[in-house]
Amino acid sequence: MILENNQYSIQGLAMVDIAKEFGTPLYVYDAEKIQSQYRKLRDAFSGLDLRLKYATKALSNINILRLLKKEGAGLDVVSIQEAQLGIKAGFAPEEILFTPNCVSFAEIQEGVKLGLRINIDNISVLEQFGHTYKGTVPCCIRLNPHIMAGGNSKISTGHIDSKFGISVLQLRHVLKVVETYGMHINGLHVHTGSDFLDAEVFLKGADILFNAARDFKDLEFLDFGSGFKVAYREGDVTTDVDDLGRKMEKAFRAFCEDYGRELQIWFEPGKYLVSEAGYFLMKTNVIKTTPATVFAGVDSGLNHMIRPMMYDAYQELVNISNPSGPKRVYTVVGYICETDTFGHDRKLHDLREGDIIAMKNAGAYGFSMSSNYNSRYRPAEVLVYEGKAHLIRKRESMEDLLSKQVEIDI
Ligand SMILES: *Cc1c(COP(=O)(O)O)cnc(C)c1O
Repeated sequence: MILENNQYSIQGLAMVDIAKEFGTPLYVYDAEKIQSQYRKLRDAFSGLDLRLKYATKALSNINILRLLKKEGAGLDVVSIQEAQLGIKAGFAPEEILFTPNCVSFAEIQEGVKLGLRINIDNISVLEQFGHTYKGTVPCCIRLNPHIMAGGNSKISTGHIDSKFGISVLQLRHVLKVVETYGMHINGLHVHTGSDFLDAEVFLKGADILFNAARDFKDLEFLDFGSGFKVAYREGDVTTDVDDLGRKMEKAFRAFCEDYGRELQIWFEPGKYLVSEAGYFLMKTNVIKTTPATVFAGVDSGLNHMIRPMMYDAYQELVNISNPSGPKRVYTVVGYICETDTFGHDRKLHDLREGDIIAMKNAGAYGFSMSSNYNSRYRPAEVLVYEGKAHLIRKRESMEDLLSKQVEIDI
């Protein structure tokens, strides 16, 4: 979104016009931004045999999946349903890595039947998998390197008491299971949920994976998960992917030489690819002045965008209806009957009832975490692709709310 001719726009289309055409609340995605983020990451690791597996859970609209497929991405999925969406979008099953946690063995078997690559994150599941398939179906193992990461404990997955992955401290046990059943382990995986801010810190973590990899002779790839950080507010430190790419290339090459074979290097970016491409547009319903605060109440809430409430995430807000208005301080809140504050004491261009507020960084974990709480319809989604705004998901209706309810005689 850029400000030109006193209008915020995407690919030359005025955001307020998009809001007018499709209504609010509305998710709007800029395809060009998704493409440029993908290419930036790809180019940073161009010296290696790289595969980028888009983390589908960040934003799973089928058109977004197709857009990324066209760029050359594969997928990382955490449920069989996400895998089915990927296949529907045109991905070959073998381009999809299924990384579930605490699902039933039946769901993993379903993944095998679909032809997905399977990532196992529990020893008991590894045993069942070995018992069932022996060496006939390869699988990947998700390791927990116990790197304590900063950030929010809900998204940090690599610490000692995290439920994710098989502890590297249990590697001997893993090897015994693999040997007993003659299993074919084709990849090792870590996803700590931590940020790749400092390449040196990241490489220390990578060393743990390199060390573990020496014990597995049939590997095709090492998967370093995700952790690519984007800016949520001006001045935020973000991942320097070029620096990370250069250092990683050196370390990975050295590992491959030692291992005796060139392996593929995989990453699973979600947020990095789609966060900044997304805007959440909402209409200011009311301005409410209290003795202490000026509230702006919008036509949305935590049902449509839960990150500020669930993760205390800072999401930048802009009044796109009044780009040259003087700035004043507002607390922007939702319409849900619960405290759902999108932003405390924010400086926004003078807000009038009816003005459209754009929330930035709404592409990742926005729509995909939305719900019908308070019996509200979920928003529509629009993709700006090749200079045109396309509706890619209709706004819901009362029919949708009732479609699965079963009426009995009362
Ligand atoms: C959520 C998830 C990702 C993506 O994380 P981002 O922070 O959105 O990049 C990657 N891999 C796995 C296994 C995940 O669960």
